[in-house]
Amino acid sequence: MPRIRILGGGLAGCEAAWQIARAGLDCTLIEMRPVHSTAAHKTAQLAELVCSNSLKSESENSAAWLLKEELRRLDSLLLACAQKARVPGGHALTVDRELFAQEVTVAIENNPRIELRRGEATSIPADGIAIVATGPLTSGALADEIARVTGSDRLFFYDSISPIVEAESVDLSVVFRASRYGKSLDGGDDYLNCPFDREQYERFVDAVLAADAVPAHIPEDQTPFFEACLPIEELARRGRETLRFGPMKPVGLTDPRTGRRPYAVVQLRQENQRAASYNLVGFQNHMRFAEQARVFRLIPGLENAEFLRYGQIHRNTYINGPALLAPTLQLRAEPRIFFAGQISGVEGYVESIATGLVAGRHAAELALGETMRPFPRETAIGSLCAYVSGADPRHYQPANITFDLLPALDEATRARLRHDKRARHAEVCRRALEKLDEYRSVYA
Ligand SMILES: Cc1cc2nc3c(=O)[nH]c(=O)nc-3n(C[C@H](O)[C@H](O)[C@H](O)COP(=O)(O)OP(=O)(O)OC[C@H]3O[C@@H](n4cnc5c(N)ncnc54)[C@H](O)[C@@H]3O)c2cc1C
Repeated sequence: MPRIRILGGGLAGCEAAWQIARAGLDCTLIEMRPVHSTAAHKTAQLAELVCSNSLKSESENSAAWLLKEELRRLDSLLLACAQKARVPGGHALTVDRELFAQEVTVAIENNPRIELRRGEATSIPADGIAIVATGPLTSGALADEIARVTGSDRLFFYDSISPIVEAESVDLSVVFRASRYGKSLDGGDDYLNCPFDREQYERFVDAVLAADAVPAHIPEDQTPFFEACLPIEELARRGRETLRFGPMKPVGLTDPRTGRRPYAVVQLRQENQRAASYNLVGFQNHMRFAEQARVFRLIPGLENAEFLRYGQIHRNTYINGPALLAPTLQLRAEPRIFFAGQISGVEGYVESIATGLVAGRHAAELALGETMRPFPRETAIGSLCAYVSGADPRHYQPANITFDLLPALDEATRARLRHDKRARHAEVCRRALEKLDEYRSVYA
């Protein structure tokens, strides 16, 4: 049987290779470092963590914990290595990054079913099963090839992430529903609009200009900005009116409380079918997270907003998953090619590991001629795959795992637990792990 080839020996690629070997198949893992490096990696080790050393919360019944717990139950190599490399980090799974990378590298090098090759992959193999897991800093030649295979308008090089707020925390006595000029795709009032008067707008611009920014991870993060996705603080620096003529323009909107057009507006766009969360349209930015919480709570109607995600802009190569991928992470147009890790359109270390595990397992199933066994939708892993393959491709943005991606509880349970968010989260986690255990009992 021909070896499965995996491009990229990062978090996703190593987990994928391990899962393929675990299924009893041979594979080749191609990693370009140290022959050719990236702007963020510093070593020749596999699975190098390029920035923080945290794999996020280990608090039971948090979404980040659930994803890790599922990976542990599925015999993830990288979660096992993280456990060995663990250092004290409060409620988070924090690791000694060198030890972690070394543990993974040794495990991969010593696995007789995995052949490790060092060198840049410049194309996707023309035949056989392949997994592309070259990450957010995929090298140029391969990125050109991916653009050829997926269509250049479906490969992105920058993330411009807008903050997301929880719907329940938006003050609907201030905010109003409307689409500009009453135009909506389905005739509804698609947006929630946060109306500003002049004084509120001036105060907001002052706060944006004074806010602390995050230092860039790598030099490319800073320049050049794409004009189409400028950070809001850069717009504010260009002139006090620029935001009002950009993402905060009020045209085509009338505030029902005053009967007039507001001075400026922040539009909130629905994130999911349940309308459980909304993103702040065009509000990508470089401000520190604590600053974002402070400054964005000056927006009328968001005084008590709960943020599910903060805004960011950084170098990130990723495909438009929903336009291209099946829930098994196969290219719909060419199912022998899988995508995993950040390039598949997820965000974060553990999310990258999770999609590596999914792609590795499904690639092995394909090679063995077995029926594909997608993960249950109720699990965090299944929900990540559902998001990557099924979100709205018109506004696609990579996502971390949050409860928002998991299916809602049934009506009766929601009603029973409506005043107890912790209990609702615990129930979502219980249901996820129960479904995962059923899946494992059938497929091991
Ligand atoms: C600067 C930066 C900081 C980040 N900080 C965090 C953070 O703090 N926390 C967090 O959760 N997430 C962070 N992320 C996001 C993301 O979780 C990590 O990038 C994560 O490592 C992604 O895993 P991956 O397996 O998809 O890619 P990687 O871990 O980057 O692995 C991809 C591998 O492919 C190799 N490669 C690239 N091109 C080729 C090629 N043509 N041929 C062969 N090999 C190739 C690379 O050398 C690399 O080893 C950050 C991303 C960036 C860019």
